[in-house]
Amino acid sequence: MSINNHPVVQVPAVYHRRIGDITVTVISDGHSELPFWPYYELSEDIGKEMLQADFETSPIVLNTNCFIVNIQGRITLIDAGLGMGIGTALSNIKAAGIDVQDIATVLLTHIHPDHTNGLIHTDGTRVFPNAEVVVQETEFSYWMDSSNISNPSDRQEAANFQMAQAAFAPYESRIRTFTSSEKEPVPGIQAIAAPGHTPGHTVYLIESKGEKLLIWGDVIHNTSIQLQRPEEKVIMDVCPEVAVETRIRILDFAAGEQLLVTGMHLHFPGFSYIRKDKDRYVLLPEKWKPSL
Ligand SMILES: [Zn+2]
Repeated sequence: MSINNHPVVQVPAVYHRRIGDITVTVISDGHSELPFWPYYELSEDIGKEMLQADFETSPIVLNTNCFIVNIQGRITLIDAGLGMGIGTALSNIKAAGIDVQDIATVLLTHIHPDHTNGLIHTDGTRVFPNAEVVVQETEFSYWMDSSNISNPSDRQEAANFQMAQAAFAPYESRIRTFTSSEKEPVPGIQAIAAPGHTPGHTVYLIESKGEKLLIWGDVIHNTSIQLQRPEEKVIMDVCPEVAVETRIRILDFAAGEQLLVTGMHLHFPGFSYIRKDKDRYVLLPEKWKPSL
């Protein structure tokens, strides 16, 4: 008997990794093509050559991940994905056997549509009915105030503010902000300020029994270009100069400490190590583990 029924999608994309006593589950939110060239100074021609050299396609494909962190039975979701009926985070959370009712906290690296639209259904209601939403204070106040729009003729910027405010609206009293002086906004999850991509962009360090994992948010969007040229300024960054400093600081930190890292836009599941090579960096993906 022949099988002519060729699959068109993968099985649910969920991957578990134990960090000491903590379980981190990577939840794929799917991927999408960037509809624009994202660098200010790097020409598209040179960029395409760099992508091709790494067997990557152009337009750049942006993979998105969210992370479930289980610390002693308390469930935190780090970033909520794109939502809008497009992102696959919600179906993959369910596939991982996690009920959205059991998510106690949604902790955010920053506020951007691909990280926060997943907080709400398309009708504007809460996806996570029992969760508090935790976000860095500067980040929250920036996006909740539309007078921070720098270029009113930029439709995407205005839309980002509008979507941010809609995503938080149904959580009202369940929103908790934290300042830079608070080391652990959620018990067991350390915050490290990483501004630039957005004003209060924050990365998170998870540590248990001597094992560590750095979840670096949007420090990197594309490894083929940004590890070779971390100094390239990115259009999606609210403050590109600060984002470059942060990118290099976080990459140096990861390489220097030999940290296991992952990120929202590293290719699923993203667990990798970083090696520094002069003023460039190399990503070394961790091998797939069949058991935890
Ligand atoms: Zn992003």
